Amino acid sequence: MFASDLDTTIEFLKGVGPKRAEILQKELGIFTYGQLLTYYPFRYIDRTRFYKVNELQPDFPYVQILGRITGKETIGEKHKKRIVARLTDETGTIELVWFQSLKWVEENLVRGKVYIAFGKPTVFNGSFSISHPELETYPRPLTVTGNMTLQPVYNSTEKLKKFSLDSKGIQKLQALLIEQCLPEVKETMPAYILEKYKLINRREALLNIHFPKDTVSLQRAERRLKFEELFFIQLQLLSSKQFREMKFKGQLFSIVGERVNHFYKEILPFALTGAQKRVIKEIRIDTQRGVQMNRLVQGDVGSGKTVVALMSMLLANDNGFQACIMAPTEILARQHYHSIASLLDGKLIKVDILTGNSTKKQRTLLHQQLEAGEIDILVGTHALIEDKVKFKNLGLVVIDEQHRFGVEQRAKLWRKNDIPPHILVMTATPIPRTLAMTVYGDLDVSMIDELPVGRKPIETRHLFEGQRLRMFGFMKTEIAKGRQVYVVYPLIKESEKLDLLHLEAGIEQMRYQFPLPEYQISIVHGKMPNADKQFEMQRFIDGKTQIMVATTVIEVGVNVPNASVMIIENAERFGLSQLHQLRGRVGRGAEQSYCILMSGQKLSREGRKRLETMVMTNNGFEISEIDLELRGPGDLAGTQQSGVLDLKLANLVKDQQILQEARNTVIEIFHEDPLLALPENALLKRFTDKKSRGIALDKIS
Ligand code: ADP
Ligand code: MG
Repeated sequence: MFASDLDTTIEFLKGVGPKRAEILQKELGIFTYGQLLTYYPFRYIDRTRFYKVNELQPDFPYVQILGRITGKETIGEKHKKRIVARLTDETGTIELVWFQSLKWVEENLVRGKVYIAFGKPTVFNGSFSISHPELETYPRPLTVTGNMTLQPVYNSTEKLKKFSLDSKGIQKLQALLIEQCLPEVKETMPAYILEKYKLINRREALLNIHFPKDTVSLQRAERRLKFEELFFIQLQLLSSKQFREMKFKGQLFSIVGERVNHFYKEILPFALTGAQKRVIKEIRIDTQRGVQMNRLVQGDVGSGKTVVALMSMLLANDNGFQACIMAPTEILARQHYHSIASLLDGKLIKVDILTGNSTKKQRTLLHQQLEAGEIDILVGTHALIEDKVKFKNLGLVVIDEQHRFGVEQRAKLWRKNDIPPHILVMTATPIPRTLAMTVYGDLDVSMIDELPVGRKPIETRHLFEGQRLRMFGFMKTEIAKGRQVYVVYPLIKESEKLDLLHLEAGIEQMRYQFPLPEYQISIVHGKMPNADKQFEMQRFIDGKTQIMVATTVIEVGVNVPNASVMIIENAERFGLSQLHQLRGRVGRGAEQSYCILMSGQKLSREGRKRLETMVMTNNGFEISEIDLELRGPGDLAGTQQSGVLDLKLANLVKDQQILQEARNTVIEIFHEDPLLALPENALLKRFTDKKSRGIALDKIS
């Protein structure tokens, strides 16, 4: 057989042809030999384990049984025709049944001979049978792909199956491909790395991922390929970070001036936590290096990220630069604006706000003032990104609650000055370590892992529907003490109509339980006009209403310190990080705060685990890790636009250690050889030249 180029179109592989090639392309995105070769099994069936007939259980997925054919007959007529054979071992007999390929079975299955039958057992009338088993003669003949012990199982689809490309069919193609192409497979990793981390070579890895010789070989193959996968993601992220830092100078914030000092000494109403101080110091260092800062600040809800952002912005102002802070929603932007404006009380600097709701007249004036450098800090929503918004000298961009912004939007802000402004990204809640390393792997990361002193941990309870009256009673007690209460309902697109009905029913019940004039209720949901939302929100902030019934629009960042009770309806329908976010709306004042999770009696295993986790811990870092474990990275905030989903083999939950190793390796490499100029890094250099300029750079050039 001739060796074939891995870029060869899949159509030319024996047994594929144009029709199947088209299906492979459409269903799996496989165009070439090389792409098929990296279409890996998602699990393996242990073919070393033989079951005895009397061991079979109805819920076994696949079994193989070694036995003698003790009977064989054809039953039925025409389309009901089938062959039933009997396979007997020393413990009993099962039936093997065929409805198709009768001719083949007729000719090849020999009575009295020993076979290995493989398939899914089903029970019928109290006895077991396997329909359309795979059959092998015993003992097994040796094949190119080894004496199969672990049989690969590939994901297939209904369409693929129609063209005989079920798992078995794909396996056949892989066997051909391996036989034909393995010599063509080139090593992608430098030899010294393979040696250092005891990784097997790529050829051996590919052979064993498809046709493992044994469990140990499979593990080695997996480790090698996972390492490679994560390594190249890290190489791409870190090389683009490195390239960016070499190419772009950063604005210099060399002094700490009057504004920061005055704010710190005269205005700041509390002492900073150790973590806040540390992060501010990190930002100080970043902004004096002459390199553009790209820093992610991770901190739990209520850990005080805003003040860190504000002090960084004042630092920019002190050095003659403007700064802006961008929030994902109008409510949040307004809130930031008000808290900054009221803290600064017209002193030190000029703050302004720009949102989608700003009037034309306001905008015109604002644009002028911005360009004239009369505004020091601009707060806003997405509206800030628009090309019309021009600064005189933008030095720092803060992006609050990052996960709602894409990488592209981040990059757009770069263009707002000749030398790109420093970028500070703040997450709403902590994200798991492994995600931070991949999704935000091109940023430096700061952690605010300490809450301000004197915060009382929020007490969280889970109540079932039957305990609703207790919940209302509790609300009344708290309101009598002068506290305010949030009641949050789910409202999602997929079930919007039903959700709105629930919300309305809930409001009605609430009005009945909490009648005027003693109780005032604010209602805020995404379907309301902005002005109404604003109005209702403001009434709650001003303490004119005691209860705020809302959908998740209040989720992010809203700050009403007197609100001390958070009630979440249908809590089982929210994700963990969302629940934690919502809970973070309380516990912001001096009072003991509470979170009550309401749910129906019936809970899925995952739903129960989420609620248990919420009751068990207040720690957002812990919660984010559990969230990742439960859901996988696919659903976690921020991953959709990051390519993390495209991982073929590695798993961000299970392979944390490999990920850390891969990242450290890349960091070391760049430390030793920043330009990848050494001959042993030539392979890597070629990769980065081809790929990594991408991420941020083509967007800003
Ligand atoms: P988040 O990190 O969730 O954005 P915020 O910045 O909104 O948190 O801060 C939450 C609350 O804690 C605010 O009322 C803020 O004024 C207060 N706060 C922040 N830092 C401290 C501190 N060091 N000591 C006391 N209160 C603080
Ligand atoms: Mg915040």
